Amino acid sequence: MAPRVLRSVEEVKAWGAELRRAGRRLALVPTMGFLHEGHLSLMREGRHRADVVATSIFVNPTQFGPKEDLSRYPRDFEGDLARCASAGVDVVFAPEAGAMYPPGYQTYVEVTEVSKGLCGDRRPGHFRGVATIVTQLLCLFRPDVALFGEKDYQQLQVIKAMNRDLHLGVDIVGMPTVREADGLAMSSRNAYLSPEERKRALALSRGLGAAQALARAGTSEASALTEAVRRELRAADLREDYVELVDAERLTPLPTLQPGQPARLLVAAFSGSTRLIDNQPIGG
Ligand code: AMP
Repeated sequence: MAPRVLRSVEEVKAWGAELRRAGRRLALVPTMGFLHEGHLSLMREGRHRADVVATSIFVNPTQFGPKEDLSRYPRDFEGDLARCASAGVDVVFAPEAGAMYPPGYQTYVEVTEVSKGLCGDRRPGHFRGVATIVTQLLCLFRPDVALFGEKDYQQLQVIKAMNRDLHLGVDIVGMPTVREADGLAMSSRNAYLSPEERKRALALSRGLGAAQALARAGTSEASALTEAVRRELRAADLREDYVELVDAERLTPLPTLQPGQPARLLVAAFSGSTRLIDNQPIGG
């Protein structure tokens, strides 16, 4: 069945109040649209964990830098509605920017620690925008559970910290990265890639795989593990933004893998002018 489309904050409030009166569990999946299997995996998991699934489709202007791709971010609302229907989504919230940031809007959420480093350093203000819109959505929908992808690993940690610190009380669920058959992490931004850039983009997942193989064979130094990723980036002529081994929760840099300390290897690189990210757990 086609999902019901809500456009205004007032509609969401009225719909949510009715839902709570009926005592039904709600799962929320925030997205920026141009949906793919990665997004749909979150929606399907939401179906398992709640009675009702809502998705937001909103290209949030406050999380884009002045030189980033806000105006050309890919959109396909009709296609997205069909994909939501196929994943069992009940309600799609698709507001205009002015509904979330009306005149007089002046409240922003900053998560100070896990927003540091990695994408936080390369995209100033990005996580402030993310934390702000996700806080708005969690306060508006008051879901029991909200689902996010590990594909955006730092974002997931930012949202977990904010949910904890602000006592929002939502069950934040992180879901594994869904990949294309050849290993490329699915992303709406993959649509920007030419066929040749798409091939070269495989260096991210290939590099992470090479580092994982080294870790399994006993290598523990961050420098050797990150070099394995960099080698693949160079071979594919991709421009590195960062390659880092970090503590999986605090996201602080790790010089070596340590037994019993969960670690994550993260990479960001440009294929042509498109910035791509990927990550995976490593060691342990
Ligand atoms: P976006 O529309 O890119 O803002 O993503 C919306 C949600 O889908 C975020 O929680 C992302 O982490 C998640 N997501 C995006 N790509 C993937 C993927 N390949 N696998 C799993 N989740 C994803």
